[in-house]
Amino acid sequence: MYMYTYKVMIHPNNKQETKIRRSLNKCIECNHIVYDYLDNFIKQNKNIPSIYDVRRWFTVQKEIKDHETINKRIGLTKKEVIENHLDTCFYDVSNDALKQAVKDTYNSFLRYFKKISKYPNKKSFKDYKKSFYVDPYKIEFTDKKVKLEKISNSQKKSRRIINYISLAERERIPTNTKYYNPRVELIGDKFYIVVSVSDEDYLGNKKKKELDSEKIFGIDININSIVTSDNTKIERVTTKDKYHKIEKRFKKEQEKLSHKYEILKKEKRKIRNSKNYLKQKKKVNKYRNKLNNLINNDINEIITDIINLRPSKVVIETLDVKDMKEQDNKYIRKGIQKNPFSKLLNKLKERLNKVGIEIVEALKWYPSSKKCSNCGNIKEDLSLSDRIYHCPKCGLEIDRDYNASINLKNYCLSK
Ligand SMILES: [Zn+2]
Repeated sequence: MYMYTYKVMIHPNNKQETKIRRSLNKCIECNHIVYDYLDNFIKQNKNIPSIYDVRRWFTVQKEIKDHETINKRIGLTKKEVIENHLDTCFYDVSNDALKQAVKDTYNSFLRYFKKISKYPNKKSFKDYKKSFYVDPYKIEFTDKKVKLEKISNSQKKSRRIINYISLAERERIPTNTKYYNPRVELIGDKFYIVVSVSDEDYLGNKKKKELDSEKIFGIDININSIVTSDNTKIERVTTKDKYHKIEKRFKKEQEKLSHKYEILKKEKRKIRNSKNYLKQKKKVNKYRNKLNNLINNDINEIITDIINLRPSKVVIETLDVKDMKEQDNKYIRKGIQKNPFSKLLNKLKERLNKVGIEIVEALKWYPSSKKCSNCGNIKEDLSLSDRIYHCPKCGLEIDRDYNASINLKNYCLSK
C-alpha cells in the first residue's frame, strides 16, 4: 500500500479563520496542561503513566474548566471575558483534535523514555507552524470545498456559508474515499489542509470515473496555449491581464533593485549592511513568488482540464532536454527562475498516470507541425510566425496548433 499525501491551501472566510485559530490555540493550551502534568509526574515517580490515565485525567480537567468558565462568564460581555482571561473552556473545540493533542504530547514523552528523542519542549503560541487533527470520518471533501467538524457543523441553511471552506486547488484531493490523518495547518499566515489517501482506495475511486476508451487526444503544448485535437483551446495564464500586471510590477521592482545595487557598488558598501537594498529584494521576491504561484496554479488547472475531458490516451510531442530548456529559458530570461515547461510535462505525466490515462510520446522526428493533417503533405518552409497552416497541395487552411494536435492524434492511431 502506498500513501499519497496532499497538502492544499484553504481559503477560510473571517468567521472560519477565527474558529480555526481558536482550535489551533486550544490545542496548544491542551499541550501545556498535559505537559505540566506529565512533567510533574515524571519528576516525582520517575516513570510515565499510561495513555488511558492521562486521557482520563485530562477529560476530568476539561470538564472542570468548562464548568468553571460557564459559571464565571454569566452576565459578562465578550470583551470582559477576554480582558479577564476567562476564556479557558474547551467545549467549543472538536474533541478529536484535543484527544490527538493529548496523544501527541504523550508520545513526545514516550519517545524520550524509549531514548529515541530528547526531553520534549512545550509548544508555543508563537510557533511558525501549528496544526490540529481532524477525525477522518468527520471530514468531507467536494471538488472545491472541505467540510470540517466544529468549524462547520451548522445545520441551518442561513449559516451554511461557514459550513464549507474553499480549497485553493480544485479537484486535487480525491472525493468519496478513505482519508488518513487529516490535519489543518497554519504556516506563517497561510492555512493548509493535509490529508493522506492510500492508493488502494484511490484506485477504487479511480474506477468510478470511467475513461472514454474511444477518446484519444493529441495535445500541442505552447507557452501561450494548449490545443487538443478536438479543437479545445486552453489559454495559459501568460496571456492574461492579471499575469501581465504582476509581471510589469515585477520588472519595475527589479529595475529599482538593480539601480540600488549599482549605488551600493559605487559606494563600496556591503549588501548585507544595506537595509534599503534588502527591503527592495524582499519586494522583488514577493512579486516573483506571485508570478510563480500563478504559473504553478495554471499548470494544475490545465492538467485538471485535460483529465476532465476523460481521454484514454494522450499523445504529446517528444521534447528533449535541449528543447525544454529553450522553452524554459523564455521564462528564466525574464528573471522568473522556475522551469514551467519541464514542470508542466513532468506533472502532466505524473498526474495522468495516477488517473490511468496513458501518455504516448511521438517520436522526435515526427513532423507534427509541418505535416498537413488532411492529405499528409509536408511543408518544409513553415516558419514559427505562421499561425495559420496553409496547405499548397489540398488547399487546407487550419490553425497551426490545431493541425499539430490532429497529427499527434493520427500518429497514435497509425501505430
Ligand atoms: Zn493538405
